[in-house]
Amino acid sequence: MRRSMPEAALKGVGVSQGRTAGPVVRMAAPPVLPAPRRVTDPGAEAAAVAKALDALAADLERRAAHAGAEGAEILEALAMMAADPQLREQAEAHVRDDGLDAPHALDAAFSAHREALAALGGYLAERAADLDDLRSRAVAAALGLPMPGVPDPGHPFVLVAADLAPADTAGLGPRVLALVTERGGPTSHTAILARGRGLPTVVACAGVMDVPDGTVIGVDGVTGEVTVGLTGAEAEGVRESDRRDRERLAAGAGPGRTADGHPVRLLHNIGSAADLRPGAEGVGLFRTEFLFLGRRLPPSHEEQVAAYAEVFAGGGPVTVRTLDAGTDKPLPFLGLPAEPNPALGVRGLRVDRVLPGVLDAQLDAIAEAARATGADVRVMAPMVTTAREAADFARRVRARGIARAGVMVEVPAAALQADELLAEVDFLSVGTNDLAQYTFAADRQHPGLSDLLDPAQPALLRLVGMCAEAGLRAGKPVGVCGEAAGDPAVAPLLVGLGVSSLSMAPVCVPVVREALAA
Ligand code: PEP
Ligand code: MG
Repeated sequence: MRRSMPEAALKGVGVSQGRTAGPVVRMAAPPVLPAPRRVTDPGAEAAAVAKALDALAADLERRAAHAGAEGAEILEALAMMAADPQLREQAEAHVRDDGLDAPHALDAAFSAHREALAALGGYLAERAADLDDLRSRAVAAALGLPMPGVPDPGHPFVLVAADLAPADTAGLGPRVLALVTERGGPTSHTAILARGRGLPTVVACAGVMDVPDGTVIGVDGVTGEVTVGLTGAEAEGVRESDRRDRERLAAGAGPGRTADGHPVRLLHNIGSAADLRPGAEGVGLFRTEFLFLGRRLPPSHEEQVAAYAEVFAGGGPVTVRTLDAGTDKPLPFLGLPAEPNPALGVRGLRVDRVLPGVLDAQLDAIAEAARATGADVRVMAPMVTTAREAADFARRVRARGIARAGVMVEVPAAALQADELLAEVDFLSVGTNDLAQYTFAADRQHPGLSDLLDPAQPALLRLVGMCAEAGLRAGKPVGVCGEAAGDPAVAPLLVGLGVSSLSMAPVCVPVVREALAA
């Protein structure tokens, strides 16, 4: 029976497993500049400028000290930008010469720096976005408002945000107990990253930004229920019921099979070696772009080899997906131009059209890491649309001594041509997140379209079935690695349609195993 919801409850879309409870800390929105004040004491105003910049640099340095190696490097570079004496001098000049108050003087100084950087083009122009973020933080400090960006209150908390960028989600610290966002869709990359970390997560939760900081809320990552204003005993009850569920599910470990004994390989989706979990039958989707989110400089050959080898050394077959950059997964080091319709533009394998060399360099690094570790490595490409693209990709993979090449089916055209694709490659992996987005013409990040993006939609299942049947005809494996594979209500349908493996966030494996066994 479904639990009745208490009065103080909000409803979003649950996108992970597990429940927890904890105090809310909201991520502040960028400040809105109020109308300029008349400056009567320029000395005090200049001191306020200096104080805001000092607070900004100190905050960035404090966060750098707690971040991982790469994060620390970025934050330290930002702290240096905040401490730049030229910037400070310009802001003070705006107070002295133009009579601006501290927030407006800071705004003007950062804007001038931004324009100068943007005009330089290339890599430096990319850093202009960093200055926007610093500007918001400095202005907030001068206005006495909380600084925007992911907060760190120094104790465990539930992070509540209007929305969160994938790069922010990837960098969330261990004190974040759960994540609730007002916007976002169930298959957005923020949801995927949060699920990968095993974080109870609810997206598209209207009204959650109105819950005051410090309020204890319960977050159910499955049902999407957010209960507001829990007592200490109620919060402990939520955590206890979650512990009981985990224990029950852990008791059923073992390979995946249906009630009548049909084996179904249950594989893990990962973004780096840190996501590897014991007991997997293999990795079905290694999203290599997650290694380099937010990176401003391209990874070297050696760095790529090391990152791939770390995953391959984890044992079990690994299916690596080549870089899937674009739309909500920007890889700044690629320097791809902005597009009016990025989801329909140059993303995934299509990047090879405009930046030849990136894919070949990645394939070289994957092949070297595979040789060095002796692991069973398969490679697949994202966003493949035609059999010709599949043939070209497979040729380049095999030329490097990697025996098995596959492609993802994420575009309806690819599903309609499943037989032709399988004539060129060794396996297909259906990416239901994008396949749903492109089949229903519904943005996967859109908070209001989750009914269309429901993986149980008959049109999506029909396309999956077409791929699975093509696989049976060709005698080649066809798996599903989109989020549908980790949904215990949908996984049995996918198996019924004939798919041979399901790849999902590790946290989803126990519930899917239980659903198949039933
Ligand atoms: C998919 O589209 O289903 C998929 C697995 O790829 P991603 O979610 O990384 O776009
Ligand atoms: Mg995809």
